[in-house]
Amino acid sequence: MIKENILRIKEGLPSGTQLVAVSKFHPAEAIMEAYEAGQRIFGENRPQELAAKAPVLPKDIQWHFIGHLQTNKLKMVLPYASLIQSIDSLHLLEAVNSWCVREGTVKDILLELHLGAEETKHGLTEEEILSVVENAGNYPGVRICGLMGMATNTEDESIIRGDFGRISALFKRIRSNYPGMDSFKELSIGMSEDYMIALEYGATFVRIGTAVFGPREY
Ligand SMILES: *Cc1c(COP(=O)(O)O)cnc(C)c1O
Repeated sequence: MIKENILRIKEGLPSGTQLVAVSKFHPAEAIMEAYEAGQRIFGENRPQELAAKAPVLPKDIQWHFIGHLQTNKLKMVLPYASLIQSIDSLHLLEAVNSWCVREGTVKDILLELHLGAEETKHGLTEEEILSVVENAGNYPGVRICGLMGMATNTEDESIIRGDFGRISALFKRIRSNYPGMDSFKELSIGMSEDYMIALEYGATFVRIGTAVFGPREY
């Protein structure tokens, strides 16, 4: 079942778009089933869960952290995650940068744009993102690889398109204003319900949980 889902979803993705299989709340066995179908990028949103799973699963898995990250949990996430997709505040950005500088490493990150309405308060404003990119030299511990966003949770497709349109426009604006910033090339938008729409807006990562692993039991 998981294998068929992965193969079917990947078949529908253009060549420049990668699947992030969101494995939160699903056990190691489910991840191994996806792994055996060729999947290598997995997304987790809880620090403890990532820190428990990563050491017991294959070393060539690329873990993407996609959830809200508190600065006191960095040591559970940064050693395992190859990409932090959810840099959702300047405070977190500073903390990740300092941690990496101290450790002598550089971590790949995406800046999360606040999209949608009241349901989430996490995310950077467009102004904050533009200022971070302009001052990227202040953050030697991170490599800014692009943007991430979560559309409003609604059935109304025009609202979803509005959200994806906004993040896609910001992404293109930064790309054209900073042509020398080679790392800035990822746009992570789209989940199980809306990823087909996200493809129209240039998604390079789609983050899909339910449509790969089935419903989560909370
Ligand atoms: C859970 C989650 C997803 C996947 O959601 P599905 O609707 O199950 O595909 C994608 N992105 C983030 C940030 C998530 O927390």
